[in-house]
Amino acid sequence: MPGFELFGQAEREELNDVLDNGVLMRYGFDGMRNGHWKAKSLEKQLEQQLQVKHAQLVSSGTAAVSVALASAGVGAGDEVIMPTFTFVASFEAIMMLGAVPILVDIDDTLTLCPNKVKEAITSKTKAIMPVHMCGSMANLEALQDICKAHNLILIEDSSQATGATYKGKPLGSIGDLGCLSLDFVKIITAGEGGAVLTNNEDYYRHADHYSDHGHDHVGNDRGAETHPFLGYNFRISELHAAVGLAQLKRLDEFVSIQKKNYTIIREALSEVPEITFRTVPEGGEESYSFLSFFLPDLQVSRKVSEALKENGIDGCFHYFDNNWHYIREWQHLKKIKSLYPISEEVKNGLNYLQTKTFEQSDHYIARNISCLIKLSWTEDEVKQRVTKMVKIITENI
Ligand SMILES: *Cc1c(COP(=O)(O)O)cnc(C)c1O
Repeated sequence: MPGFELFGQAEREELNDVLDNGVLMRYGFDGMRNGHWKAKSLEKQLEQQLQVKHAQLVSSGTAAVSVALASAGVGAGDEVIMPTFTFVASFEAIMMLGAVPILVDIDDTLTLCPNKVKEAITSKTKAIMPVHMCGSMANLEALQDICKAHNLILIEDSSQATGATYKGKPLGSIGDLGCLSLDFVKIITAGEGGAVLTNNEDYYRHADHYSDHGHDHVGNDRGAETHPFLGYNFRISELHAAVGLAQLKRLDEFVSIQKKNYTIIREALSEVPEITFRTVPEGGEESYSFLSFFLPDLQVSRKVSEALKENGIDGCFHYFDNNWHYIREWQHLKKIKSLYPISEEVKNGLNYLQTKTFEQSDHYIARNISCLIKLSWTEDEVKQRVTKMVKIITENI
């Protein structure tokens, strides 16, 4: 996945443009910047490549999720449905707005299970947020139908699947809002950064103002701008946007390198009869950032995962015991360890986490191993790697 593997001349040139004129901020200073608007250019480029009307860059993927939710009017006491397998950012971004994260089981897509989503809807539900984990996607058509039937907002977190498509459309462009991360380990990186994508004019305007202290961005005198509503600072800098711009131009190239490496590994692993692969929804095309497969049971998966590590096969994750990506070990969140008081409404809303178990998610995550696909491997390296993998897996089944 990580775009940082392939930094080059293009990133340097974009960065030097910014350093040469000295304007590191994305807004204002029109006279000084010699026509360089890196954040604006990156937004235009995102709109084109990801086929959405509007892209709003922000300071991180986590900020993108908070800004997207806020832009759609999600706030105090509202319930947002999210998957048990994700990155803690999903939980944090919802909590930041005083809303309540409602965790729902995943299925064999490793993303939100539409049937479990239906069961979780209450009168307080405002949004459904699938997280397209490890390069593949949720069944978006099923989730869109649920959203329509219950008048809910669909927010896609495609931080880990930028470059993947569903029924011919880029992930992030399909829901009412989409979120991307450009952090250091994502398929394309800006160092830090994120983006909110939408075709909705109101959500876009809200995201644009909200992420910059409520500034209305009318005219070219920041001092004279008005502030229609409360906002915060989730701005991206020109330096980050410059790197992102160079990286975005290489997204298709990165996806095709990943696909090539993924395909070699998948074909070899297919020879092991005990291995099955994650389900990709019909009409889905992965970003090939990871190859995710299932082993027969928890014990085998733990053994294989350890053995892969011991034998120098890095980047293969068994998420069952992971405390960033899977609810089972999110002790600090289950106990709501917060620096500051949390509202009673949110505390009560989170009570279910003390007792609720997620057997269906456990069933899949316990048996899943997701292997990062790197951009910098040579074909020989991929082949040697997969030969070792098959041997290790076969020995441990
Ligand atoms: C990385 C990531 C985020 C958060 O992105 P940051 O830019 O690191 O804040 C959110 N969701 C998912 C699924 C991610 O992988």
